[in-house]
Amino acid sequence: MTFQHPGLSGLNALGTPLPRVLRPKRAVPSDAVRPTRAEVNLAALRHNLRVVQRAAPTSEVWAVLKADGYGHGAKAVARTLERAGAHGVCVALLEEGIELRDAGIRKPILVMGGYYGDAWGELLRHDLVPVLYDAAQVEAIADEVRFSASEPARVHLKIDTGMSRLGALPKNVAEVADAIARSPEIELDGLMTHFACADSGDEESLRGQLESFEAATTELAERGLRPRVRHAANSAALLSLPESHLEMVRPGLALFGIEPKTGLAPDLKPAMRVHTEIVALRDLEPGQSVGYGWTWTAKRPSKIATVPIGYADGLPRSLSNNGHLLVRGRRAPIVGTVSMDLTMVDATDVAGVTLRDECVMLGQQKGPLGEDEITAAELAQKLGTIPWEVLTSVMRRVPRFYREP
Ligand SMILES: *Cc1c(COP(=O)(O)O)cnc(C)c1O
Repeated sequence: MTFQHPGLSGLNALGTPLPRVLRPKRAVPSDAVRPTRAEVNLAALRHNLRVVQRAAPTSEVWAVLKADGYGHGAKAVARTLERAGAHGVCVALLEEGIELRDAGIRKPILVMGGYYGDAWGELLRHDLVPVLYDAAQVEAIADEVRFSASEPARVHLKIDTGMSRLGALPKNVAEVADAIARSPEIELDGLMTHFACADSGDEESLRGQLESFEAATTELAERGLRPRVRHAANSAALLSLPESHLEMVRPGLALFGIEPKTGLAPDLKPAMRVHTEIVALRDLEPGQSVGYGWTWTAKRPSKIATVPIGYADGLPRSLSNNGHLLVRGRRAPIVGTVSMDLTMVDATDVAGVTLRDECVMLGQQKGPLGEDEITAAELAQKLGTIPWEVLTSVMRRVPRFYREP
């Protein structure tokens, strides 16, 4: 049974418009009590889709929404981008694909992870498109189609042109292609590869991988196999190398408003803000210390604000005495160690600070003292990681709230 999500049409069963703000489904009511939230701007997602469409005007855009839509909530993001004109959705896991189908997504869903166990039946029942790379997978899915008397299965074939992660190696392309060519149960909808060095801007390596992709395309054509679409470009490739666009592009990060490399698309708008509120304020005398291990000690009379966000929410513990939150439009340093659920900031220089003032961990803030932004790129650099990890580190227990501008 496929469940049709009422949100798809924008109308409920009685034909009245649905509210435009999707509230998160909460496991426990107390989730709503704590002011810690990840706020996702749906208008920013649509804007970023347009930026991508303009950069690759003749290609289909399939939104990459693995890992719960890079932490933004895959279902709401998929619904938004589906309505805004994305041609399809890519996920990593079979489970992620099923979640989106069950949420009413009707566009094609490509499951890129390459691992399906023996759940081929599940895959077909949910009308998901698998990425295959060896002859055994081709035969397994052909068997399933025969067994369940289904329509031919649409599949994408992945070629390893240098990433050395997933995909048929060039020397094995002929074998997989033969398996597909002799299986009427299989329709080769797509041919794909993935770049290793797109984010570092190594265009020569991209061109080399594209050449090897062309060679694989030719080998398939020699066996009468002509995939409807070919695709290779992630966000960085699609924003930097038009010849990588082919018939389809697979952006993830850019749709969430973040440049894979500074300067590639300055007009992207970050879609997520993570914020909370001050729940306690105290005045400290010089010599008094803060938090586990007393790693910070006041040198002057200080005002310390406690906020209900910690490392179990995705505020990295390595920001202890080493990071900031935005309060009233300016930066306040994190003092003491970040604990699991709570963090302290030094608000001594935040004029007018009061209980319930908003504190931003990620994103922009405008306030009476100014305007500032903590970007995913800034956090990533500070933490020695990449913006992708910053986004996917915002934990599940932080409720996602969806807003229009
Ligand atoms: C994650 C992923 C993408 C999207 O990458 P971004 O850099 O986030 O745009 C595209 N293709 C594959 C195979 C991926 O795993």
